[in-house]
Amino acid sequence: MKLVFIGTGYVGLVTGACLAELGHQVTCVDIDPDRIAKLNRGEDVFFEPGLAALVRRNVRAGRLGFAVGLKGRLRGARAVFIAVGTPQASNGSADLSYVKTAARDIARNLTGYAVIVDKSTVPVGTSEMVRKIIKTNRRGPFDVVSNPEFLREGNAIGDFMKPDRVVIGTDSQRAQRVMAEIYRPLKAIMHFTDLPTAELIKYAANSFLAMKLSFINEIANLCELTGADVQPVARGIGMDSRIGPKFLQAGLGFGGSCFPKDVSALNYLSRQLGFDFKLVKALLAVNQRQKQLFFEKISSYFKNNLSGKRIAVLGLAFKGNTDDVRESPALELIAKLRKAVAKVVAFDPQAMAMARKKMPDLETAASVAAAVRGADAVVLATEWDSFRKLPLKKIRSLVKRRIIFDGRNLLDPRSVRRAGFRYFSIGRK
Ligand code: NAD
Repeated sequence: MKLVFIGTGYVGLVTGACLAELGHQVTCVDIDPDRIAKLNRGEDVFFEPGLAALVRRNVRAGRLGFAVGLKGRLRGARAVFIAVGTPQASNGSADLSYVKTAARDIARNLTGYAVIVDKSTVPVGTSEMVRKIIKTNRRGPFDVVSNPEFLREGNAIGDFMKPDRVVIGTDSQRAQRVMAEIYRPLKAIMHFTDLPTAELIKYAANSFLAMKLSFINEIANLCELTGADVQPVARGIGMDSRIGPKFLQAGLGFGGSCFPKDVSALNYLSRQLGFDFKLVKALLAVNQRQKQLFFEKISSYFKNNLSGKRIAVLGLAFKGNTDDVRESPALELIAKLRKAVAKVVAFDPQAMAMARKKMPDLETAASVAAAVRGADAVVLATEWDSFRKLPLKKIRSLVKRRIIFDGRNLLDPRSVRRAGFRYFSIGRK
């Protein structure tokens, strides 16, 4: 089936390439000509495990192509996926300007019946808005479907290819048949709903996951006051099948391109509708506090005088296995450390280039060893697997002071202390 993707970001490129792998004929378009030029040259536009090979294989097989703009690209397309960004606007709502532009663009270029698929995360009512925009700009049949995406960066291909469920919101039998056909090779559980329900599922899912993280962070804070240890607590509650073990890792607060903005958009949507969603509101405050508490842990160790202290921050991405630094707690922490006049040197296995785009004067080092040399403290801010096996003996000989603040609970407290470090983590002894 011929499919077109609008947006070649973490969602558009991954899902487009995966659908090509499933045998569809996919064109991914973007408004960014540099991005498309890179993709056409076979270069990576971001880091996602396995993506480069997947893209290469499908381009070679003639199933995947890239283009700037939609002009002439919709001829024969059965479905057009909107996979553009929906960043947080200054009032906390989802900024839908890219979605609106994409809808107008579709209206101008549609030639026959197609299903317009909202894959971006959008508030309830957006599919209806997309439908109106297209209808006022074009005569002819089309349907709009909400098909939220649940992939996680770092495991995006696996998540797309083996989804827990595929959610399709539509009020059209014809569109439902097209969507079922597109996803048939996945043999996934298909959850068909109406449009507003599908749109709300995505926000509810992300907010629930963020709530799990914040909940265990709060328990970790309580552990520090009671002498309990958050990891066995998390295991203990996670063994209950009603709770489940995932998303119970305490840390320095959640970030990323999705949770903060989606929780905020759900809060905004509720407010607009006159509903005071107390839990979601608290979630935002709890996460802010969690990030602040970790900074204060570092600051108070130095008696609130970080001036001139050299702090090695290991990890810049908002989580491991990605180069995405959007809303990264690591960058927020670095900003606070620098405001307190600490001298920060950072290292990340993949995200240094992305981080420098956001923080051009950030000092980065080429390796863990180079970052920690002469450091007054080492901070672990992203859960890269390689950081779990830090060469502590070597680090001991390079740092100025043997202090580790582990914002992700990556290291074993006893081994770190045995190696001669003072060690602080989240909710553990
Ligand atoms: P992104 O910022 O990585 O990519 C968006 C791309 O769309 C950019 O390359 C941009 O140039 C392009 N674009 C913008 N307007 C365009 C237009 N009119 N025509 C063509 N291209 C256009 O965004 P992302 O992380 O892929 O997220 C996309 C959506 O998917 C968001 O709504 C996000 O919330 C949602 N989502 C993201 C993830 C994730 O892990 N990143 C997971 C699930 C859902």
